[in-house]
Amino acid sequence: MSKIAVFPGSFDPITTGHIDILQRAVPLFDEIIVAIGINSQKKYLFSLEDRLAFIEATFEDEPKVKTATYKGLTVNFCKDIGAKYLVRGLRSNLDFEYEKPIAQLNSDLHNAIETIFLITQPQYGHISSTIIREIYKNDGDISQFIPEAAWKLMNS
Ligand code: ADP
Repeated sequence: MSKIAVFPGSFDPITTGHIDILQRAVPLFDEIIVAIGINSQKKYLFSLEDRLAFIEATFEDEPKVKTATYKGLTVNFCKDIGAKYLVRGLRSNLDFEYEKPIAQLNSDLHNAIETIFLITQPQYGHISSTIIREIYKNDGDISQFIPEAAWKLMNS
């Protein structure tokens, strides 16, 4: 049976930190779905279409990485597509404290789900979409923090 993992997030926008986690997850699974959760209450900087396009352009040569969008609970999306693994990145103890109850609750809701945490490499530990958005909104150069293919699309 193929090992399907979901890497859920907002990816507003995808960063080199996300890419590092994804590239390291590729050898562990048969398929990784980068899944953008749709939350109608939340305001995003980049449209859903743009966020998907940034990811797709970055992984166009990696057939194991696919994209999807979903509404509602992440575990229900996992059930629907037959994914048994959730991938999350950890940058700090704050990430860990935030992620721990979510992983435990997800396991309560769907006990076949295993959350796999990958610890960031030090050179990406300070990178977050939140900070990248602030730099972008204030006309700063974000090119070193996002994948090259996404940068090209942003400027096309
Ligand atoms: P969310 O809105 O769910 O936090 P994000 O798009 O911000 O979604 O992040 C998705 C996942 O990527 C999360 O597990 C987050 O911890 C991880 N992540 C984000 N930036 C980094 C980074 N620089 N290094 C490692 N993991 C990261």
